[in-house]
Amino acid sequence: MIKVTNLEKSFGDLKVLKGINQEIDDGEVLVVIGPSGSGKSTFLRCLNLLEVPTGGNIYFDGIDITDKNTNIDKIREKMGMVFQSFNLFPHKSIIENITLAPMMVRGLSKEEAEEKAMELLKRVGLEEKRDTYPKKLSGGQQQRIAIVRALAMEPKVMLFDEPTSALDPEMVGEVLDVIKSLAKDGMTMVIVTHEMGFAKEVADRVIFMDDGLIVEENTPLELFNNPQEDRTKNFLSKIL
Ligand code: ADP
Ligand code: MG
Repeated sequence: MIKVTNLEKSFGDLKVLKGINQEIDDGEVLVVIGPSGSGKSTFLRCLNLLEVPTGGNIYFDGIDITDKNTNIDKIREKMGMVFQSFNLFPHKSIIENITLAPMMVRGLSKEEAEEKAMELLKRVGLEEKRDTYPKKLSGGQQQRIAIVRALAMEPKVMLFDEPTSALDPEMVGEVLDVIKSLAKDGMTMVIVTHEMGFAKEVADRVIFMDDGLIVEENTPLELFNNPQEDRTKNFLSKIL
């Protein structure tokens, strides 16, 4: 579904991605781990062109999205992104947060958009919050709403950048449970996370990034229990 070849990204003189190659299959869950500053967020942001690569190509469903002639807005609609900070619109109610893009971008009627939104809210156990405002919700609830808002666009891929890093520990589980249920349903996902237990459970494949490169990749079982590279061993010994 996604193919990345020789992806490079520099900010001025700073080379952040130094040639990333990846193929992500339909229904695959890819977890990205690595030290702070290794380029994980930049990699994720390149996938939907929030950052414009300075080298290499990214293909989405066979279309080169780095080609100047590609309509990137159309592609972005198919990629949901969830950030560390929940980024809900503070002055809009929960139901408005969720229905805005489906109505404006996909042209759904209010009734259609709300019906879909309520289905998704039910799925994450927050249907009674429809007319509440974001600041009345806990961090875990806001993040579940952010996931619902992305799902309301019916994306083909979900990108998560440390979705639980800003949460109080007691709220991490409720957000990870939602992501696990998406995995069970076969959603294609790329997830940057430091939650290794979760990664083991949900990932089909884990890549370890350091200094702008993929140092090692494997199944979670192999990568966590039997890392081959010193840099991977060193990183895992610090966080596990
Ligand atoms: P990670 O997510 O693994 O912590 P990032 O992808 O956020 O790493 O950052 C990798 C490097 O790129 C860091 O050195 C960071 O300071 C730098 N960087 C990221 N975004 C920008 C930007 N917009 N401008 C300049 N430097 C950036
Ligand atoms: Mg990051």
